[in-house]
Amino acid sequence: MLINEICPVCGGPTVLKKVTEIIRGGKHTAIVQVEAEVCLHCGERLYTPEFVRKCEQIKAKLEKEETKDFQPVEVAYQA
Ligand SMILES: [Zn+2]
Repeated sequence: MLINEICPVCGGPTVLKKVTEIIRGGKHTAIVQVEAEVCLHCGERLYTPEFVRKCEQIKAKLEKEETKDFQPVEVAYQA
């Protein structure tokens, strides 16, 4: 599922990697593991349109506090 193979930011080569994306919505944070293209040169991450849509859905759920579908992994505090 390679999308570009070339970084749109710097033109460097990209590799498919499993990355952790943090999505914030309201006072909640979700952590999602996804395969994305990562630029070897500048570290830019390129996601599929499907994943971008999924992120928007997750963010909307977090904002509406519809978190029952998500697995709690840790609690973050601001100190
Ligand atoms: Zn780059």
